[in-house]
Amino acid sequence: MIVVLEKNITDEQLKNITQHLEDYGFTIHKSSGAERTILGAIGVQPNFDTRKIKILDGVEEVYRITDPFKLASRSFKNENTMFKVKDVTIGSNEIIVIAGPCSVESEEQIMTIAEIVKKSGAKILRGGAFKPRSSPYSFQGLGEEGLKMLRKAADEFGLLVVTEVLENSLIDLIYKYTDIFQVGARNMQNYSLLKELGSAKKPVMLKRGLSATVEDWLMSAEYILSNGNPDVLLCERGIRTFETYTRNTFDISAIPVVHKRSHLPVFADPSHATGLRDKVIPMALAAVAAGADGLMVEVHHDPEHALSDGPQALLPDQFVEMMKQVKLIANVIGRTI
Ligand code: PEP
Ligand code: MN
Repeated sequence: MIVVLEKNITDEQLKNITQHLEDYGFTIHKSSGAERTILGAIGVQPNFDTRKIKILDGVEEVYRITDPFKLASRSFKNENTMFKVKDVTIGSNEIIVIAGPCSVESEEQIMTIAEIVKKSGAKILRGGAFKPRSSPYSFQGLGEEGLKMLRKAADEFGLLVVTEVLENSLIDLIYKYTDIFQVGARNMQNYSLLKELGSAKKPVMLKRGLSATVEDWLMSAEYILSNGNPDVLLCERGIRTFETYTRNTFDISAIPVVHKRSHLPVFADPSHATGLRDKVIPMALAAVAAGADGLMVEVHHDPEHALSDGPQALLPDQFVEMMKQVKLIANVIGRTI
């Protein structure tokens, strides 16, 4: 339920409304926008008579939220969510580029790639140290050593870090090295992980699950939000379909669909979405044209020898080219990069 408060509400009135909602068993989340302050009252009371709240002094209007996701919905918060991670703002008019290898493989590898991506305008360095691999025999990541290398490379070149957290027991360790937690596609419905990240004091990038609907995805975001962490960004990375010419099918329409239903920033990952480096640039352009708030791409200087996802990694020159072309599209639609 959404409680829209009057503009000139007094502290006393707000306290009274809050008290009533709590007495009726609701949990309250406050959203203070430029125009309005809104209370999101979350509770499982399907037949609650909203007039009980509507008559209280200081209440302008009460609505039911029809979407199953509440805090992630535009009805709860109309303004786009924007948050700062150190000197980088996510969700603003500026398109943020995250780039780096699939996995951190060595200090030399991550340093080389960090330098390349920084030079062309990436703001955030990616790289997995704990990898979710389909085969238990494939490279699983360098673990904490990899996190150290990733942090060192990012600090050396003035980049932020995003890296995947595979399970609850790794949250504290990864917290020490990362700026943003990544929840991978395979973990999108790991509700215990999502809940725990709700109380982690760093932003979370939530990738879309391989066979998740947009609603499933937003419900997963709701787990993080309702457990206290408002800094969530979504990342479309392709879904499984019957098509086999690409690794996944890039659901570009998910970008405007999410933007309409939710205030959360939406990034796009054309690397995992297509699985083929020659498809990454066109899909990056399409994603930006469709309104993506950022891109995440894999880059490798020696993809032939990469320990994971070599075929989808952009070569350094291709990354430079992608950034050039993305800038052109950004200009056309009135965004910066
Ligand atoms: C990744 O970004 O490293 C990754 C494994 O992606 P996804 O979870 O989307 O497959
Ligand atoms: Mn990868």
